[in-house]
Amino acid sequence: MSEIALVLNNLEAYYGKIHALKGISLEVPQGKIVTLLGSNGAGKSTTLKTISGLVPAASGTVEFYGRNITKEKAHNIVALGLIHVPEGRRIFKDLTVRENLELGGFTLKDEKLRRKRVEHVFELFPRLRERQKQSGGTLSGGEQQMLAIGRAMMTEPKVLLLDEPSMGLAPLIVQEIMRIIQQLNSEGTTVLLVEQNAKVALKLAAYGYVLETGQIVMNGDSSRLRQDERIVKAYLGG
Ligand code: ATP
Repeated sequence: MSEIALVLNNLEAYYGKIHALKGISLEVPQGKIVTLLGSNGAGKSTTLKTISGLVPAASGTVEFYGRNITKEKAHNIVALGLIHVPEGRRIFKDLTVRENLELGGFTLKDEKLRRKRVEHVFELFPRLRERQKQSGGTLSGGEQQMLAIGRAMMTEPKVLLLDEPSMGLAPLIVQEIMRIIQQLNSEGTTVLLVEQNAKVALKLAAYGYVLETGQIVMNGDSSRLRQDERIVKAYLGG
């Protein structure tokens, strides 16, 4: 039996009186890319924030490799190897590319190991190597997204939660980001990918869930979802 990296069981969350998650259940198998689709305000970001401990769960559970992490603090969740790359690429704009990466690996006591990881990120993102001395704020949107993912990779996470990595990027850059996500996955990183760009997400992921107003309304293999009339109509511009 294959191992399950992440299991959400009937997860609920509120912002004050707003019932943002109304019982989300989903599974992310080890080594796979799973996507969470849905329109604006469906609760995709809230799902990721609840998993990573930034928004408290009102009820339900989050299990990470069989361990209940529902009430765990965000920094402990990071230490377990579950890393969230939030929407909007929050990099440090005044620090250089290299400094941003080094900060991502600040928990690594071993200086040599930290340098090795920076090197690995540069292999994945040659553009970041070229721009390593440039300050984060002067990078293009796509490069900032690369840096945000590269910084997350400094800890060699078991699971990456990616919130709309394609947002606001030109199609060619989106393709490059997706290629990198695929490569990270082929190196063993499990990915839960939130996307509004369903076309791109369903190409990359093996399995998808569709979220509407805080509930999963559909799920299945990506190949099946790509052909589903409702998905085509609502998300694939058909
Ligand atoms: P988008 O694609 O637009 O980012 P989303 O699917 O990620 O949308 P969420 O950001 O999870 O949606 O929002 C789910 C619901 O919770 C929305 O109705 C939103 O207005 C509400 N919400 C999100 N964050 C907050 C907050 N900090 N305070 C109050 N309500 C919030």
